[in-house]
Amino acid sequence: MRYSDLSEWSLRIGRWAAQYHDTLRARPVRAQTAPGDILREIPAHAPTNPTPVDIVFADFEKLIPDAMTHWQHPRFFAYFPANAAPASILAEQIINTMACNCMLWQTSPAATELEQRMVEWLRGAVGLPDRFTGTIQDSATTATLCAILTMRERSLDWQGLSHGLTGQDVIRIYASPENHSSIIKAARISGIGDANLVQVATDSQLAMCPRRLRQAIEQDLAAGMRPAGLVLCAGGTANGAFDRIADTIAVAKEFGLYCHVDAAWAGAAMICPEFRYLWKGAESADSIVINPTKWLGAQFDCSVQLLTEPELQSRTLSLRPEYLQSGNQNGMTDFQDLTIPLGRRFRALKLWFVFRVYGVSGLQGMIRNHVNWVKALENKLIADPEFEIVTSCPLALFTFRYAPKGGDADSLTTRLLNNINDDGRIYLTPSQFKGRPVIRMTAGTFSCAESDVMSVYDIVRELASEITSTADTTQQRSDIPKPV
Ligand SMILES: *Cc1c(COP(=O)(O)O)cnc(C)c1O
Repeated sequence: MRYSDLSEWSLRIGRWAAQYHDTLRARPVRAQTAPGDILREIPAHAPTNPTPVDIVFADFEKLIPDAMTHWQHPRFFAYFPANAAPASILAEQIINTMACNCMLWQTSPAATELEQRMVEWLRGAVGLPDRFTGTIQDSATTATLCAILTMRERSLDWQGLSHGLTGQDVIRIYASPENHSSIIKAARISGIGDANLVQVATDSQLAMCPRRLRQAIEQDLAAGMRPAGLVLCAGGTANGAFDRIADTIAVAKEFGLYCHVDAAWAGAAMICPEFRYLWKGAESADSIVINPTKWLGAQFDCSVQLLTEPELQSRTLSLRPEYLQSGNQNGMTDFQDLTIPLGRRFRALKLWFVFRVYGVSGLQGMIRNHVNWVKALENKLIADPEFEIVTSCPLALFTFRYAPKGGDADSLTTRLLNNINDDGRIYLTPSQFKGRPVIRMTAGTFSCAESDVMSVYDIVRELASEITSTADTTQQRSDIPKPV
């Protein structure tokens, strides 16, 4: 295959893409494959001779799509969405075609300058002050690791970089148990360790108690340890929990801690002014991560890290051997200084396309719809005495249980979830609250419509009634046909 074949093949794949999206509603959301099904179909060794691309593409169509879980399916309600708005798909095609490495200004001038501007656009769109600049990381996990490494080195006056951690004071960082597991991973990778990631207790609203945080820091200081930073939860993964960011940061700042806000999912909603009360105080953080891949339509990889003092992070992460001395005397940022891998994709183009094609108002409309539809669904479940809402978030996320009178709610809830996901019309995630199983529902796919969200009630009701004999005769049946 030559580059000159691209025009024909891009058209064919463009048609395939449109058809794929057109037919998503008729497909099961979760792959209905068994482990090993695909492995058996793929030869054990790479081919010696070339294969015509027609045959490769035909095999792709035969084997792959049906064995995938469809993240862009309008009834994907599991995990968090991994959105890919049509405008972002186009931008990604361009990015793939140019395939540039955006590590330095000199290796990618337009990408570097567009990245700077897109960080500013997002900052303005979510209502943060101009003192934030930042970068686009590959993932929130990387952004949080970078922030935690910066916490560590700042508290060690950058001695860890040269001398390692042996013989240093014990570094302590603080977070609530509602945070994403990427914080634990960062504590491990940074050499701080699980034991020094202090899980500060939360209150009945699932927010970290500022008083408990103060106690923990004071205790650690008294024990000769070194409190370095705080990770705040703005939209926890399991329950959508929010710390009371202003009060909690105020305590951390008294002790000189570096503060990072994980708003990977919920940060997108801050483009709607009415939700900003949820992260009040985020403007006093040092670092904030927001994933436009989750709820703003710009697909993987695109995770914006906003920073008030990027110099602290570049002092921690920048390394310049001879071959990276690009003679950069032009005052422009070399974004590799703010991250871990050297190579970087042209991520900013996706945000540029998405912001311009939909406008902030288009994105706000989408998020408001998702929130309102999920609330309406939650109210339908509240009105049904056989279901219990366990946790509820002001954004598009809640957890529930199937708890009909006289039944064992734990095992019924688990069975119901398995049946839902085997059925294929919708896809939800299992979770736990206080050690007991719950079913977690969130909506955020670009293509999802009100009827998709509301169908969750009918499908859940139908499958629940199939499990128990307590089903009443007025049982509703969903009019969405079962996928084949
Ligand atoms: C999804 C998520 C992450 C991890 O995001 P990646 O970009 O996949 O690393 C971290 N924190 C929160 C709150 C999330 O929702």
